[in-house]
Amino acid sequence: MNAALDDTQSLIPCNLCGGHAVSVLSRRSRSGAALRTVACKACGLAWSDPRPHEARSFYTDDYRVAYKGSFTPRPKHVLRAGRVALDRLAKIRPWLAGRPRVLDVGSGGGEFAYLLQRLGHVITGIEPNNGYGRYAAETYGLDIRLGFLADRLAPGEQFDLITIWHVLEHTEDPGATLRLLAGALRPGGRLVVEVPNVEAICQSPRSSFHEAHLYSFNAASLGCLARRNGLSICDTRLSADGGNLTMVLAPADAADPMPAATIEGNHARVAGVVAGHTPLAHALSSHPWRRAGSRLAGAVSEWVELRPGENGRALLDRLYGPELGEAVPARPALPVATWASLAAAYLAAVFVEEWFVDHWAAANGWSSGATLGVYLALQMAVIAGVIALARSRRLARRELLRVGGWAAPLLAIPAVC
Ligand SMILES: [Zn+2]
Repeated sequence: MNAALDDTQSLIPCNLCGGHAVSVLSRRSRSGAALRTVACKACGLAWSDPRPHEARSFYTDDYRVAYKGSFTPRPKHVLRAGRVALDRLAKIRPWLAGRPRVLDVGSGGGEFAYLLQRLGHVITGIEPNNGYGRYAAETYGLDIRLGFLADRLAPGEQFDLITIWHVLEHTEDPGATLRLLAGALRPGGRLVVEVPNVEAICQSPRSSFHEAHLYSFNAASLGCLARRNGLSICDTRLSADGGNLTMVLAPADAADPMPAATIEGNHARVAGVVAGHTPLAHALSSHPWRRAGSRLAGAVSEWVELRPGENGRALLDRLYGPELGEAVPARPALPVATWASLAAAYLAAVFVEEWFVDHWAAANGWSSGATLGVYLALQMAVIAGVIALARSRRLARRELLRVGGWAAPLLAIPAVC
């Protein structure tokens, strides 16, 4: 970092108002590297100044690897992204009907585009990352254009609905991106923009700023930027945890006056929220606990939902089935032979344990502690045996949990006896 940087001035002009008068919000990124984030004194827009990387090569090749450690999505990433796609569908429901032609900017692994395609929309995705874009086209049969929005949108091409989820904050010129998208909307079309909210306090203060996010918005700065670039605001929403800001926009009326680029009080508001979000305040809030809880719940439900060897398309078809009105196939009952072999294994184990505790350990003068230790080891062996047996019958993990749920109280019986 350039030590001669003046902390009241930005190198890059404000994308909203053109100003250079700023204050510094943060000097560190999520990864702990030097990253200067500034907020404009006139309008409250925040950005990385100077820029941390060269955007184009970063997004075509490095980005997904830096983010997820993989060039194509792994099953757990497909599952997570599929669940996010269902959330996003719920957010845009009111604007979907009667809007068949959809553009998804930054379509990633294609999970959201595939959901809309399955709902009968004609969807085009644009994705700069080659690995993810090819994967989406090949796996889901999607129309994905590899590259950047400005290069991949045909002149005069228009859509009924455009979605741009968590992409605008990565662009070098968000105002120009919104203007380009406003021009690609049909009359009556809608643009859905979602970005991280710079006022969010649900994350650790150390993870607030990220090298990949060149800009940070709140509702006021994003709304003003949209209105100054040919759009009008239909709806503004924050996610339940305050972390995401979703805005639904329409082409502006030519008669609408251009709003002023300065936003009274917005810099003080943004700087105040960021300064107040200290590690201590965060530790004393309920957010770290809720985040840890939802992470644990997510890991367990991923383990249950994922089926080894299943490809992304089969996984999403299964996940999206109820949303698409498809009957969920009834789970086949466990074969009687499986139940019988599990019961036989259990009875044999109980017999061995009883014999060990009542006869062998007592006859050989074992202490009660040693007896209990071996008894518990035998119990563990029984549980492992039941799981191994269930796996050898190729049970789904959900079935495995069911068998485990039945076996656990049964295993406790000898202990009580
Ligand atoms: Zn500004």
